Amino acid sequence: LEKVSRRYPIGNTVFGSRKSLTAVDQVSLEVKKGQTTGVVGESGCGKSTTGRLALGLEQADSGHVLFEGKELAASGTREWRLRRQRMQLVYQDTLAALDRRMTVGDLIAEPLVIHEIGDRPSRRQRVLDLLQAVGLGEHHRALYPHQLSGGQRQRVVLARALAPSPSLLVCDEPVSALDVSVQAQIVNLLVDLQQDLGLGILFISHDLRVVRHVSDRIVVMYLGQVVEDGRADAVIDQPLHPYTQALVSAMPRLPGGFDHYLPLPGEPPSPTERPSGCPFHPRCDRAKDICRQTPPELLTLGPERRVACHLVSNP
Ligand code: SF4
Ligand code: MG
Repeated sequence: LEKVSRRYPIGNTVFGSRKSLTAVDQVSLEVKKGQTTGVVGESGCGKSTTGRLALGLEQADSGHVLFEGKELAASGTREWRLRRQRMQLVYQDTLAALDRRMTVGDLIAEPLVIHEIGDRPSRRQRVLDLLQAVGLGEHHRALYPHQLSGGQRQRVVLARALAPSPSLLVCDEPVSALDVSVQAQIVNLLVDLQQDLGLGILFISHDLRVVRHVSDRIVVMYLGQVVEDGRADAVIDQPLHPYTQALVSAMPRLPGGFDHYLPLPGEPPSPTERPSGCPFHPRCDRAKDICRQTPPELLTLGPERRVACHLVSNP
């Protein structure tokens, strides 16, 4: 993504008011082949929209969305379909995501049918291979979604996504609905699959602990903007933005007890009431006068490090 923005109209258009809220504001990020870029932030920060923009499921109002070096084609065209096949979405709510009247085997084969990949016998073999790849067995093929555990359903969702041999996976909170021990299994499976298949992954989560585990690069979003990014170890070991620092300090070091933490005092402000200056200033204990007036620029600190905070740009 290059400086991609997405606005939604809000309010009562009947009376002609043309307000809009900016869900994603000038976001640039990159997923390299065989690597994972993690996007972390609280709910409403625009991370899911960012994922949908990357996939071409939503159109950007401005900026460029490039895939394998080329701008995404207009939706519905043959080229768009071919490229959509190479980018797949893995999302969270697996019971809603899977048609409960279909067997696991049919669910995994469906994308192959839709994209007209292979014939019946080869699809059948592909389903078996995919089941094995995600750690399920042949006997799961005839089962229905409600007969599976949450972790098994997430494996089916993953197998479905992998069926058309994508080069990019966008995973939106892929493990948030699962127990912590199952989360670890699925996350480790993703890491293994990535290594075997050379996938690029955009991994979206509110949970920095999970993001850290899977990501080569981490992008921190706040109210639709990138506030910091960099190599995962650099962002975790030396967070520069006070928001990232708060997320890191709230990250439990010990297993257990991290199901649902509130990393910061107060709610994230609503995108409809965007604060002046630095959007984080109402919650930042180091806010200065300039923070209330002037938005900090996203400063490039090196080839792989950016941060948007006056503490860094105007110390
Ligand atoms: Fe805090 Fe100011 Fe930095 Fe924003 S710019 S994060 S308010 S110190
Ligand atoms: Mg979301």
